Amino acid sequence: MSYQITIEKTKNPKQKPDEHNLGFGIHFTDHMFTMDYTEGKGWHDPKIIPYSPLSLDPSCMVFHYGQAIFEGLKAYKSVNGDILLFRPRKNMERVNISNERLCIPPIDVDFAVEAIKTIVRVDQDWIPKSEGTSLYIRPFIISTDPYLGVRPSNTYKFLIILSPVGAYYKEGINPVKIYVENKYVRTVKGGIGYAKTPGNYAASLKAQMEAKEKGYTQVLWLDGIERKYVEEVGTMNVFFKINGEVITPSLEGTILAGITRDSTIELLKSMGVKVTERRISIEEIYEAHEKGTLEEAFGTGTAAVISPIGELNWNGKIIQINDGKIGEISSKVYDTITGIQSGKIEDPFGWIVKV
Ligand SMILES: *Cc1c(COP(=O)(O)O)cnc(C)c1O
Repeated sequence: MSYQITIEKTKNPKQKPDEHNLGFGIHFTDHMFTMDYTEGKGWHDPKIIPYSPLSLDPSCMVFHYGQAIFEGLKAYKSVNGDILLFRPRKNMERVNISNERLCIPPIDVDFAVEAIKTIVRVDQDWIPKSEGTSLYIRPFIISTDPYLGVRPSNTYKFLIILSPVGAYYKEGINPVKIYVENKYVRTVKGGIGYAKTPGNYAASLKAQMEAKEKGYTQVLWLDGIERKYVEEVGTMNVFFKINGEVITPSLEGTILAGITRDSTIELLKSMGVKVTERRISIEEIYEAHEKGTLEEAFGTGTAAVISPIGELNWNGKIIQINDGKIGEISSKVYDTITGIQSGKIEDPFGWIVKV
């Protein structure tokens, strides 16, 4: 790849936030990566520049029609000072899956991984070191034609910004209460559910707010046609352990193919646990609970890694899972994946990439 990333360092480095009180997505580092796309010219001018607001025409297509995609991954400082990324190529491959759906031109996957490594190196002093903390990496692409007609844009910007983030679980992992959503749907087959694109998030906010008002942390999404099959939990993939077997919804166009989901499946299989990807109905989950075979339920995603589900409310029928405590498989997956990510546990899967 012949792209050369130019680097312009900031003259005014910011004061770094307190590592013990970082929160999520609040603080941003000193630099950002940008690269432009112009029809006929392709992707060009990759550069790292001081973190700063963008100047965009108010008619920019992204503001009106939402032609955009994003990613999320993390960099970790290992105990011996190495900087580690977790399966970054998977994220950049997923950019192109999202791009294809949103009519955004593809990026070069290897170059994009290089770009991530370069910006992380430039801002490496921002990677927090405390237990559970990391540097969250947010690559995203926006359409930038100043034009109000509806068609794919001819120009785009690819950006990468970085945010030091705190430990997701400060007081230990607590299983969450989940509302089974039967009014709103996240996506339908043929829609954009498998793409990581802002529209899916905008569409999910109302259900999330109403669930919060009822005292629930998140919603469990059901399929958009029959309101029968389980899809995702909030913005995480979902797993159920029934009678020793771990089941997760199969990827059929409505579900985001999570990298934590994929890693969880591979890890469980390596542990000799039976894992099945198939459609699973909410009735089946409630029936398993009746029979006493519903052993665990949890969500997976980059931010929390594992989020155990302690309670479900489906049409007013409330069930407790594993007495509202974190299950054995959930703990094992959490400890192993976070251990590999932070370099504390050896990585037999080839997931870790040193920066
Ligand atoms: C990002 C995302 C996930 C989780 O994907 P990871 O790669 O594991 O972080 C799951 N569902 C949705 C809708 C997402 O946007």
